[in-house]
Amino acid sequence: MTIQTDDLLQHDVAPAADDARPLRTDVLIIGAGPVGLFAAFQAGVLGLSCALVEALDEPGGQCIELYPDKPIFDIPALPVCTARELVERLLEQARPFGAPIHLGQRAQTLTRGADGRFTVRTDTGTVFDAASVLIAGGNGAFMPQRLAVERAGALEGHSVHYAVRQVEALRGQRVAIAGGGDSALDWALALRDVAASVTLIHRRDTFRAAPATVEALRGAVARGEIALEVGVIDAVETLPGAHASALAALQVKRRDGEVRLPADQLIVLYGLVASLGPIAEWGLALAGGRAEVDTSSYQTSSPGVFAVGDIATYPNKQKLILSGFHEAALALRAAYRLAKPDQTRTHIHSSYDPRLAATVLGTDMQDGGATRAPGR
Ligand SMILES: Cc1cc2nc3c(=O)[nH]c(=O)nc-3n(C[C@H](O)[C@H](O)[C@H](O)COP(=O)(O)OP(=O)(O)OC[C@H]3O[C@@H](n4cnc5c(N)ncnc54)[C@H](O)[C@@H]3O)c2cc1C
Repeated sequence: MTIQTDDLLQHDVAPAADDARPLRTDVLIIGAGPVGLFAAFQAGVLGLSCALVEALDEPGGQCIELYPDKPIFDIPALPVCTARELVERLLEQARPFGAPIHLGQRAQTLTRGADGRFTVRTDTGTVFDAASVLIAGGNGAFMPQRLAVERAGALEGHSVHYAVRQVEALRGQRVAIAGGGDSALDWALALRDVAASVTLIHRRDTFRAAPATVEALRGAVARGEIALEVGVIDAVETLPGAHASALAALQVKRRDGEVRLPADQLIVLYGLVASLGPIAEWGLALAGGRAEVDTSSYQTSSPGVFAVGDIATYPNKQKLILSGFHEAALALRAAYRLAKPDQTRTHIHSSYDPRLAATVLGTDMQDGGATRAPGR
C-alpha cells in the first residue's frame, strides 16, 4: 500500500515559523502517533485548522518505532492490519485536510498569552500560535539513546551523529557506525559506496535485524567492504587545538583488550528512548507521568490544553489505539469552542456532510439528494 503523503511531511531544516511570524492554527497537535494522526483528521472534519509537531523523522509513534510489522487485531472494522499499514491508512484519512506534520522537532515550551492563545516553541526554533493544544505524546518524545562517554556530547552535530541526514557529507570519510539493529546495519550497507571506509561496532557478533539484512552485512564483511568490530566504545579521541570538535579516533574495548580505531565520523544507532521531557514542566497535573484529564472533554488541568492517547490518564484508562481515537474526537469538539467562540457547531453525521464529501471525494452532494441528519 503506497500512499502519497510527502506533501504533508515537513522536515524543517530551519525554523518553519519564528517569533516574528508564528505559525497560527486553531489546534496544535503534539505527537504524530496513531492518535495524533487521527486527531488531525477529526480537526479537519470539524473545520478546524491544525498542525502537528513530531520529535521523530517520521509519523507513526509506537506503531512505527516499536512494532511496524506486527499485526493489530482490535481496530474497529479492520479485522487485521500491520501497525505500519494502520499508520499509512491514518495518513491517507487525514490527507485531504492538509495539516502539515513538522517532523524532527520536539515541542519544548508552552505559554499562554493574555488573549488566552498558546505559544509553543520547538527545540529547533519553530513557533506556533494556537487557540488550543492537544497533546498526543504517548510515552513522551522518542529520542535517540546517546553514547555515554566523555566528550561525546561536545562532538554531537559535528562528528558524532544520531541520525544520517546528509549522506553526501559522509563522502570520502572514515565512518564508524555503532549499533546492532536494522538501522545500524542498513546504514553500514548503504554507506559502503559513499564513505572511504565503514566500520560497524557492536558489542556482540549477533544482530537484532531482519535476517536478509544480517546476511547482506555478513557478505559485505566477508568481502572486506565493511569492517566489523565486536566491542564497546569507551572513549572518543579528538583532533588537537582548533579542531577539538573533530573526531580523530575511537577507543573500543574488546574481549581481548583495547583497540584504537581511527574515524572521522561516528553514527550512533543504539535505538530510541521515550521521555516525557519538557511536557513534565508545563504545569499540568500529572499522575504516574501521565496528564490527568476530565473525561467529558479530555482537557488537562490547564484549560485549553487537552491530552489524548497513552499520555492521558483517568480512572479505568486503557492504553489502546481505539481509546485514543475516542478521546481525540471529544477533545476536538471542546477545542472547537475555543477556536470559534462566536460560532455554534451543528452536528452533521459525516455521511451527510457536503463539505466533507467535497473535500474527501471532490463531489457535490447538493445534487445527490444529501439531507441533514436529525439534529443532535
Ligand atoms: C509491541 C506493542 C504492540 C501493541 N499492540 C497494540 C494493539 O494490538 N492494539 C492497540 O490498540 N494498541 C497496541 N499497542 C499500544 C499502542 O501502540 C499505543 O496505545 C498507541 O501507540 C498510543 O498512541 P499515541 O499516539 O497516544 O502515542 P505514541 O504512539 O506513543 O506516539 C506519540 C508520539 O508523540 C511524540 N512526542 C512525544 N512528546 C513530544 C514532544 N514534546 N514533541 C514532539 N513530539 C512528541 C513521540 O515522539 C511519538 O511519536 C501496542 C504497543 C506496543 C508497544
